[in-house]
Amino acid sequence: MRYNVAQLLKGPTGIRRKYLFREEIGGLDPELEPVQPLSGEVTLLRTSQGILVTGRLTTTLQLTCRRCLEPCLTEVEINLEEEFFPTVRIADTVLDKAPDEDYEDALLIDEHHLLDLTEVIRQNLWLAIPMETLCRPDCAGLCPRCGGNRNLGECHCAPTDFDPRWAALLKLNLESSDSNERSD
Ligand SMILES: [Zn+2]
Ligand SMILES: [Zn+2]
Repeated sequence: MRYNVAQLLKGPTGIRRKYLFREEIGGLDPELEPVQPLSGEVTLLRTSQGILVTGRLTTTLQLTCRRCLEPCLTEVEINLEEEFFPTVRIADTVLDKAPDEDYEDALLIDEHHLLDLTEVIRQNLWLAIPMETLCRPDCAGLCPRCGGNRNLGECHCAPTDFDPRWAALLKLNLESSDSNERSD
């Protein structure tokens, strides 16, 4: 995930290089469980201040279904658009000074002119994970009584009269009407 951008920095603003990207990302983050390499294409573009990286990369992660807690495979896509700035100047290159607030540790090209996408990719993968991961849109979830997986068939528990998610709310309502009575 590291690119030597010395040649690109020596060139004029606007030149670009495209790279096919295919990397195993098993060791990228202990909490991410990729089941496929991350693949796609990245473009490095020489800007007046540094290198703009754009690209669309996809992989498949093993996540946990929010309702039934079973593992589920989810394809995630990241769209990179990050500008990296050199920490050292190459002789005879013309570079505008980037605003101080744009300098972030993750977005610096090191003294060997290596641009490292690792941290940017890790952060973008986390952002790409859907908030509600479901094994399928109509996942029936777990039975609130026996904990059985309802996708695997009906359990033998009596049907509940109301959605268990409302239980907490109902309890709150009862409590607040109690306190109303007391204040009367
Ligand atoms: Zn599920
Ligand atoms: Zn049940």
